[in-house]
Amino acid sequence: MSYPEKFSGFQAPSAEKWLEFKKGSWEPRPFGDNDVDIKIECCGVCASDVHTVRGDWGEVPYPLAVGHEVVGKVLRVGPKVTLAKVGQRVGVGAQVYSCLDCRHCKNNNETYCLDQVNAYGAPYPGTDYTTQGGYSSHARIHEYWVYPIPDSLASSDAAPMMCAGVTVYSPLRRFGAGPGTKVGVVGIGGLGHYAIMFAKALGAEVWAISRSRAKEADARQMGADGFLATSEEGWNEPHKMTFNLIISTASSFDGFQLSQYLSLLDVHGRFNLVGLPGGDGLKVSTFDFITNSCFIGASNLGSRREVLEMLDLAAAKGIKSWVKEIPISKEGIQKAIEELENSSVRYRSCLVAYDEAFEA
Ligand code: NDP
Ligand code: ZN
Repeated sequence: MSYPEKFSGFQAPSAEKWLEFKKGSWEPRPFGDNDVDIKIECCGVCASDVHTVRGDWGEVPYPLAVGHEVVGKVLRVGPKVTLAKVGQRVGVGAQVYSCLDCRHCKNNNETYCLDQVNAYGAPYPGTDYTTQGGYSSHARIHEYWVYPIPDSLASSDAAPMMCAGVTVYSPLRRFGAGPGTKVGVVGIGGLGHYAIMFAKALGAEVWAISRSRAKEADARQMGADGFLATSEEGWNEPHKMTFNLIISTASSFDGFQLSQYLSLLDVHGRFNLVGLPGGDGLKVSTFDFITNSCFIGASNLGSRREVLEMLDLAAAKGIKSWVKEIPISKEGIQKAIEELENSSVRYRSCLVAYDEAFEA
């Protein structure tokens, strides 16, 4: 395989033209002893990519290649690397650095390390490099954030698990989804479809909570035991105080029915947000908590340990991602973004055909 001096990718060029993805190239950061160079094969399209390039979360260091659901082949490893081998098929997600030394890092909480670095748009410690994501030819990643992919998982099925999958797997595991628990999933998109499948695989009773009935048949096929449509008057009434855990993957707070969602929770039940709409966020009232003493919180991605555990579970249980492959190009990326913005994606787009796009 050829080995480039520069990496190239489809970058959002500016705030005004954020949808006009343009091929650009850049010099990777210096190759470190623990680094792994990866030739990217495919990359999922996450709503976080859209929030970022659209500017929902603040200033963006354009030009920027986003994408943090990567699968590819290892081209080269640094002399101290023990966690990856040349030729191996590996994944990379939304985090690419933390100190690996603080209490949080040592407790499998590296996603909460004060020094954690995102896969794109972030300054990389000790360099003047701004991280670039997976809508690109190659990635240079510290081995700790490089995960071997089980043979039984196809690359484009495994790629979206690197962010969407582990972001819901982590709170499901941490907050006890399992036999005898009832779990709700708000928002049936990329993250939501994994939340249904993983909660089911962990043994919980799972209910999909969507804005309409359009996704009901799909959600049931994914394993949902029940389905609630929030457009229906009084939808929450028969289910009040029956859920142990609700994971919200909603990517917008327009018409978000927080009080109604919280009313579903049993005493001390937990509402965990993983969806990250920009803007002013949510308004909460003490009265939303007083009837059931419920908790509300949020979580960020998942640890290396959780990624490996999730991949094992997916392989063991034959969990199959619902993925639509799209050849990577400006138009392909625009199409994937449009389908995220209008919630029509079923249920994750994955950019493929990198060889053609990058003339490997
Ligand atoms: P998708 O667009 O695929 O799914 C989001 C779903 O949310 C939609 O399909 C829709 O489901 C639901 N939804 C959208 N708007 C609303 C609304 N106003 N009220 C209620 N539900 C709504 O996006 P992803 O799954 O890729 O990402 C979801 C969110 O998670 C994004 O905000 C993303 O940035 C965030 N994220 C957070 C991470 C973390 O670490 N915390 C990591 C990765 C992503 P339906 O049609 O069923 O109602
Ligand atoms: Zn993501």
